[in-house]
This record gives sequence, C-alpha cells and structure tokens, in this order.
Amino acid sequence: MEILLIQFQTFETIDPRTGEVIARISEGTKEDIDIAVKAARYAFDFGPWPRLPGVERAKLMMKFADLIEQNTEELAALDAIDAGKLYHLCKALDIPSAANTLRYYAGAADKIHGEVLKASRELHAYTLLEPIGVVGHIIPWNFPTAMFFIKVAPSLAAGCTMVLKPAEQTPLSALFYAHLAKLAGIPDGVINVVPGFGPIAGAAVSSHMDIDAVSFTGSTQTGRKIMEAAAKSNLKHVSLELGGKSPLIIFDDADIEKATELALLGILFNKGEVCVASSRVFVQEGIYHEFEKKLVEKAKTWVVGDPFDPNVQQGPQVDKKQFEKILSYIEHGKKEGATLLTGGKTVGNKGYYIQPTIFSNIKDDMLIAQDEIFGPVMALKKFKTVEEAIKSANNTRYGLAAGIVTKNLDIANTMSRSIRAGTIWINCYFAFGDDIPFGGYKMSGFGKDHGLQALQKYLQVKSVVTPI
Ligand code: NAD
Repeated sequence: MEILLIQFQTFETIDPRTGEVIARISEGTKEDIDIAVKAARYAFDFGPWPRLPGVERAKLMMKFADLIEQNTEELAALDAIDAGKLYHLCKALDIPSAANTLRYYAGAADKIHGEVLKASRELHAYTLLEPIGVVGHIIPWNFPTAMFFIKVAPSLAAGCTMVLKPAEQTPLSALFYAHLAKLAGIPDGVINVVPGFGPIAGAAVSSHMDIDAVSFTGSTQTGRKIMEAAAKSNLKHVSLELGGKSPLIIFDDADIEKATELALLGILFNKGEVCVASSRVFVQEGIYHEFEKKLVEKAKTWVVGDPFDPNVQQGPQVDKKQFEKILSYIEHGKKEGATLLTGGKTVGNKGYYIQPTIFSNIKDDMLIAQDEIFGPVMALKKFKTVEEAIKSANNTRYGLAAGIVTKNLDIANTMSRSIRAGTIWINCYFAFGDDIPFGGYKMSGFGKDHGLQALQKYLQVKSVVTPI
C-alpha cells in the first residue's frame, strides 16, 4: 500500500500568558493565497452569493450570528489564549458584538439599490450598485474577532466573496469563524481564511492581480506597503485603517474622579493594544495636580494578571516582540527626560506582563509623545489654554480619534472642529457603534469601517444609459 504524505509548512501560535506554544497552524504561502483567490473568484463569477436576493444573504448572515452566540465561550477562550485578552470581556463584549455587527449589515443587505436618473431630454439612465468583486481582508491581532467582522460583515452584505488573512499572532478564532460560516450555510468559496505571515501571505493578497479591493487594518508602515503593492499590481481599491496617537484633553471643569477613570481606561483597556488608545493625556493646569495624584493612585491598584481571572483588569501583551518594543519605549522615555510617575516594570516571571506606566513632563516632540507604543504607557502633559491644547492635540502625524472632557459646550464644539481626527468623543471614550463610521485622518488612513459607509467600500456604481 502506498502512503502519500503531504507536508504542510506550519507556524506556532503562542500563549502570551506563558510564552508556550498553543498550536501549530498551517502557514499560507503565495500559492495558497492564489488557490483561495481562485475559489473566491469562481464563487463570485458563478456561485450563488452575489446573485442571491439581499434578504436571502441576510438570512444566512443571521444564522452565522446565531452560531457565534451559541459558541461564545469557546470563541472568547480562543481570543484570550491567543491574544491575552480578558476572557470575561470577550465573552460579554467582543463575541456578542461580532454577532450584532453581522446582524446590522444583514439588515442592510436587501436595501442596496441604485438611482433612476434623467440625464437629459434624450437620455434615460439608472445606476446599479454592484458588489466590487473579490475582496482581500488583512487584519491585525489586537481585536481578532471585531476586526474579522468589521471587514467580513459589510462585504458579505454587499455580495462580495473574500480572502481573509488573520494576523500571524492570532489565527485561532478566524479559523473557527470560517467553520461557523460553513455551518451557517454561507456557500463554499465565499469566505476563505488563509493564516500566514504578512510579508508572504499578506503581500500575496495586496499584490494579487485578481483581487478587486483590499481592506486593511494594521500599522501605518504596512499600510504604505499595501498601497504600493496595489498600485504596482492591478490598481485594486484600497482602504486603510492605521495607527494612532490619540489625545484625551481634560479641562478644569471636569469631574476629576470620572476623568481619571476615563484616562486610565483610555490607555489601559486591552493592555494599551488599541489603535485609538488615549496615549497622550493633556490636563488643564487648574486641576492638574489633583488629577495626577488620583491617576497615579488608581494606576497602582490596577490589577495585571491572568486574563481568565475575573478580577484581572489587564492581561499580557500579545507576544515577546510587542512586549520588548513597549519596554524599549519605556527606557527611551526615561532617557529623553520624561518623569516616570508609576510603572515601567514587567510583572511576574513568565509571560508578557507590563505594569501600567505613566510619564509626565512630556514635551510634544518626545518620541514617547509621537510614536504609537501600543502598550500601557501614558504620556501626561499640563496645558493652560484651549489654543495650546489644540496645538498639542494636532502635533502628531496620526488622526484617528480624540477625547474631550468638559461641561462647556463652546469648548467642546471648538475642540471637535479643530482637532484633525476621524472620531471625537465628548465626555466619553471608546464609544463605538455598528452604525457610527470609524476611520482615520492624516497618516491614520482613509476609508471608513462601521456604518453604511463601510458597505460603500464593497460596492461599485454602474451607470446604464439608454435613449428615451
Ligand atoms: P501590522 O501592520 O504589522 O500587521 C497587520 C496585518 O498586516 C497582519 O495581518 C500582518 O500579517 C499583515 N502584514 C504585515 N506585513 C505585511 C505586508 N508587507 N503586506 C501585507 N500584509 C502585511 O500591524 P500589527 O502590529 O499587527 O497591528 C498593530 C497596528 O494596527 C497598530 O499600528 C494599530 O494602531 C493598528 N490598528 C489600527 C486599527 C484601526 O482601526 N485604525 C485597529 C487595530 C489596529
């Protein structure tokens, strides 16, 4: 008897609580991406998905959402072991929100229509809104579930087929979602998940001649490469959700207790591995001293530890590389003259845990005030006037989000209009909604995720013209 042994190239996915290997994952090559694109192309050109009435696509998306909810605990556990995210938060928030994102776009699937036009006396015209085709999704590791669905849900509703490459650090839940999509009855070839590394599998997506659009979330550095690859291949449509260095600006009339809580959450939520983390906090001079004192007291009681422990507020950083990068920024902050108010050290003797870290006496041009650290490191600065706050807030190459804390409506409005960022939160932070468009200004990218604007990314307009 002949035994055929097929050897797949694999890579390890690591548990950041311990640094140990969780699983070996099949590593997507350029050829694998090509096979996935062929499947997506066939499903787009000949399969039922783009041709189904919107309401039928919606039914399957709703079924997919139900299956996610039925598997909430397993999915939450996968994101917790793969990304070091808090298990209870994944269970209460990330996973149910993903199901709702699917439901939101399912509700839009049967409301996609063009317009009837009368171009001139002799011509009658109408537009068709057609799915853009085969989409390539490339996503990061910090919200493996949310990122999957903010890309997949609107493109499914539009009638696209797709190839999704999850981040190499967190492939587990994406593979489970592909399985659930199949169980829900989403036809073969519509969602193709190929794990692998950015420069190989990711680059094969962005440079592929038969992918019509690429929707990317990740660093600004990689976003630039994606755009270059798209330009050099088939000029595919590109949307980029990139990095940030978001300011939170707290005025003298703020409730200090609440403002400190908001500032801490803004930087420590998801261990600071958040594109919109409030990594720069500007506090007006009248309350600065008291604010700083309270903030440091609270940071010292913040619980860092195993993300499966319900009392823990902050788990481990995603991997060794990210852990070391954050620590090197902390060292840099000390060297460039910022004052380390609290934190700065690692926690425990295994895994990738870092203390909540706050620097004060920040100057806008310091590296820790300019670079995206993507960790639990806050840069705190005192300001006097509204003008000074606006200047500091805008002193960044990024423009993803900003927070303003004040009871003064004039100040809130002036700040909202003056800050160059895609989202402004007034007296709140991390306030997202499926219907609220999200995306960057400046080097934080272009093209919106969330909302009906995201659906537009996956549609194109065809004009049909006929003589009257
Ligand atoms: P990254 O850019 O290194 O990787 C993101 C994805 O791109 C991964 O899947 C990776 O494999 C892939 N990739 C890497 N090199 C590639 C290449 N040459 N060609 C194609 N694909 C490639 O970013 P990261 O470190 O995984 O994520 C952190 C970054 O993501 C931060 O900058 C963060 O701000 C950003 N982010 C932005 C948002 C947003 O909505 N704006 C949300 C989450 C994260």
